[in-house]
Amino acid sequence: MATSVVLQKVEKRYGSLDVIHGIDLTIDPGEFVVFVGPSGCGKSTLLRMIAGLEEISGGGLLLDNERMNEVAPAKRGIAMVFQSYALYPHMSVYKNLAFGLETAGYKKAQIEPKVRRAAEILQIEKLLERKPKALSGGQRQRVAIGRAIVREPRIFLFDEPLSNLDAELRVQMRVEISRLHRNLGNTMIYVTHDQVEAMTMADKIVVLNSGRIEQVGAPLDLYNNPANRFVAGFIGSPK
Ligand code: ADP
Ligand code: MG
Repeated sequence: MATSVVLQKVEKRYGSLDVIHGIDLTIDPGEFVVFVGPSGCGKSTLLRMIAGLEEISGGGLLLDNERMNEVAPAKRGIAMVFQSYALYPHMSVYKNLAFGLETAGYKKAQIEPKVRRAAEILQIEKLLERKPKALSGGQRQRVAIGRAIVREPRIFLFDEPLSNLDAELRVQMRVEISRLHRNLGNTMIYVTHDQVEAMTMADKIVVLNSGRIEQVGAPLDLYNNPANRFVAGFIGSPK
């Protein structure tokens, strides 16, 4: 059911600036993969290329072995959650969740069960009539994730979704997102510059530095056997 993601020598140039240098990566169906690395290393660019929001300059992107480079974002079956909640302020939570489905041409009767189910998964059933300004930061982030869930994507992409939340809420949402992954079983790619998030959430961590992969592995593999000083320093292992 879940989807595999393969990057083959993926490159990105902005004009004459090379930002991604030939990345090879295989993500297995249902994996929770965390891209981690310092600011500016290319995490968002990679995610945006997978989503189709940014053109791929070289190499190939495959989802379930099908080449996606030229496929429109809406046809890829991907939903993305950002750090800025980007909710529609004048719409209720229900409407925020329903809106994408309405524009995609779903009928009211099809939309309602999808919205109810997403609200139930995220425990925001009681907030459906509220406007975003009457929600806490954590509740807003749940609505943003709910908007991804209602579309039933094959892959979820998260770009630093928790970086605007306070420390306590971050821990809570981390647990929630891990639970979401266990419940849904979808392939998820999660971008962060936070080592603790990477270590606690990932099946597999991809450590990026200046548009290249430094190392890929399970959290404890990276911690115990960092490939180099950069990984050791970044993951916080003693070497
Ligand atoms: P990260 O998400 O890891 O912080 P980004 O993917 O946003 O990094 O950026 C990677 C590099 O690409 C940075 O050097 C950034 O300045 C550059 N970059 C990102 N978007 C653009 C753009 N639209 N035009 C030119 N350069 C960009
Ligand atoms: Mg970024």
